[in-house]
Amino acid sequence: MVAATGSKPIVPDFGGKNHIFTATDVLSGKYKAGDNIVVIGGGLVGCETALWLAQQGKKVSVVEMMPDILGGPHSMPFMNYDMLKDLLPYNKVDVYRKTKVTKVGDCSVTVENENGEKEISADTVLVAVGYRSEKNLQEDLSGLNIPVYNIGDSREVKNIIHAIWDAYEVARNI
Ligand SMILES: Cc1cc2nc3c(=O)[nH]c(=O)nc-3n(C[C@H](O)[C@H](O)[C@H](O)COP(=O)(O)OP(=O)(O)OC[C@H]3O[C@@H](n4cnc5c(N)ncnc54)[C@H](O)[C@@H]3O)c2cc1C
Repeated sequence: MVAATGSKPIVPDFGGKNHIFTATDVLSGKYKAGDNIVVIGGGLVGCETALWLAQQGKKVSVVEMMPDILGGPHSMPFMNYDMLKDLLPYNKVDVYRKTKVTKVGDCSVTVENENGEKEISADTVLVAVGYRSEKNLQEDLSGLNIPVYNIGDSREVKNIIHAIWDAYEVARNI
């Protein structure tokens, strides 16, 4: 049996949970974002979603607690990092680095950085702080007396090429 159940977005509790959606909710069309959006998390998913929304004419802010967005220049092909980093300000996305979200209110997000606390108004809050492997099926199956392989994001959250490599290895060896 091969489990390839992917991952689930991590949604931390910032209070006001009813107003928080995931990037996937918006990208899949399940939820329609408002005009004033805060994206929590400046990784690849947060930044690409922010850019996509800004290009629709929406006001978007990205809040990232690390000193750099996108995991820094060494986490992906440099040209992708460099282009996305520049496209955000070009499309008027406000990017807050070294800044933590401390609270999500009804129509604002409270953030904190070395300059103190600040409220950013928002009618939509999207969380993009990472994904967690969905291992439930693999754990259930592992109790059975059959070989079980766990591949792709459900083994470790990475990207398409790693999922394909996992699948190739298993397919070659079973
Ligand atoms: C917004 C976003 C953008 C991304 N962009 C890129 C990119 O540009 N390049 C890149 O390389 N990677 C990208 N990734 C990562 C990439 O999508 C994943 O690494 C890849 O899809 C993992 O493949 P997978 O088959 O392991 O899991 P998934 O593609 O997540 O597929 C798992 C499937 O299993 C289904 N499933 C779960 N549980 C069960 C169950 N019990 N029974 C039946 N079905 C079940 C799920 O519904 C899902 O359809 C992105 C991810 C996200 C979220």
